[in-house]
Amino acid sequence: MFVDVAKIYLRAGRGGDGAVAFHREKYVANGGPDGGDGGNGGNVVLEVNDHMSTLVEFRYKKKYVAQNGEPGGGKKCSGKAGQDLVIRVPRGTLVYDQESGALVCDMSNIDRFVICKGGRGGWGNQHFATPTRQAPRFAKPGLDGQEMSVRLELKLLADVGLAGFPNVGKSTLLSMVSAAKPKIANYHFTTLTPNLGVVRVNEEFSYVMADIPGIIEGASEGAGLGHTFLRHIDRCRLIVHIVDVSGSEGRDPIDDFEKINEELERYNPELAARTMIVAANKCDLVYDREQIDTFKKYIEEKGYPFFEMSAATRNGVDELLNQIAESLSKLPPIKTYEPEYVAPIIEIDNDYNIEITRLDGDVYMVEADWIKRAMGSVNFDDHESRLYFENLLRKKEVFDKLEARGVEEGDTIIIYDLEFEYVK
Ligand code: GDP
Ligand code: MG
Repeated sequence: MFVDVAKIYLRAGRGGDGAVAFHREKYVANGGPDGGDGGNGGNVVLEVNDHMSTLVEFRYKKKYVAQNGEPGGGKKCSGKAGQDLVIRVPRGTLVYDQESGALVCDMSNIDRFVICKGGRGGWGNQHFATPTRQAPRFAKPGLDGQEMSVRLELKLLADVGLAGFPNVGKSTLLSMVSAAKPKIANYHFTTLTPNLGVVRVNEEFSYVMADIPGIIEGASEGAGLGHTFLRHIDRCRLIVHIVDVSGSEGRDPIDDFEKINEELERYNPELAARTMIVAANKCDLVYDREQIDTFKKYIEEKGYPFFEMSAATRNGVDELLNQIAESLSKLPPIKTYEPEYVAPIIEIDNDYNIEITRLDGDVYMVEADWIKRAMGSVNFDDHESRLYFENLLRKKEVFDKLEARGVEEGDTIIIYDLEFEYVK
């Protein structure tokens, strides 16, 4: 099955918590703090795999979480870092941030990209000893890893895109000039997968040709299947527009040509301006020479290079290939896209703001992210830890603010899990 869009959720590993531990040795009393640091969480990494050609792997697996770092241990042992989670994607995958829609990276000319960084491990208590606090009973918790919901979109990398109505002979041409083995059959929508083939011109020069399935009328608005595939033409340096000149399907070549161009234009006006070569196919079925000449005149008046051929008999195919090679040598390289995503800045509240809510006559609740974070590193069973926390609140004027709100001695203060009676 060919899948070229997918939405997945990524999360890097959490950092391990720092340890609270004290040196123990026979006959040595009161050893110093020796709690080790937590290990860093694993990153989520995208990696190009050139053997992949679809995003089908992401159809059922939607959640990708890297390993957490391990907590620190005693004897200054650091926790093990979490392993990176490597996600393989086909070359040409575009990665968008689902929230903002911004492009995070284009996996076409880079091979590896760290998309979510693992959280840092927390410091063990060994780092918190000071001359006055010789036995710190607290350590820092590890930090969360980055997370992101992304939309993957595959835009194949091909130099040449074959465009045209279904059944005009695109797949036949590709199978003739490359080793690709696309399905060829005499009914519409035989090609449900864009096929890529390498066309070898000589020892040094080859190019990639893509057979873009069924662009049909209304494709740009979502009719049929065509629109799903239009995006694969986006990067092509050159479009070869194939038209069935024999009218074997009862259609008019000029009409077909214009309809396809309208579709390209509607999908992306840039595509209409891309270099295009027109190839009139199935000439072996044409008995009335005038049919070809009328079309040829029309196309040449519009300024496109024109080629008549038969993909089935290979007549005229080499002339077309030569023209393609010559055009490519003058065209800019395959299009890549510039990332536009800027990682959101995590807001740190430098003003140490707090929110005070009076819950009941003499019960007040205090909320603030910075307090929540600080509480994560405090051990409330330990007297010294509590003092450290209390000092922090005092320094950041939490008590002053409470008094300004009318808090009196004996009132109850709730700060998350903590509940205490206010004393001056
Ligand atoms: P696509 O839908 O554009 O990929 O078309 P296919 O390559 O699958 O071809 C559709 C049908 O047209 C198949 O039956 C082919 O054998 C036939 N066909 C393709 N090119 C030619 C040609 O040059 N001459 C003739 N007579 N038949 C052709
Ligand atoms: Mg086909």
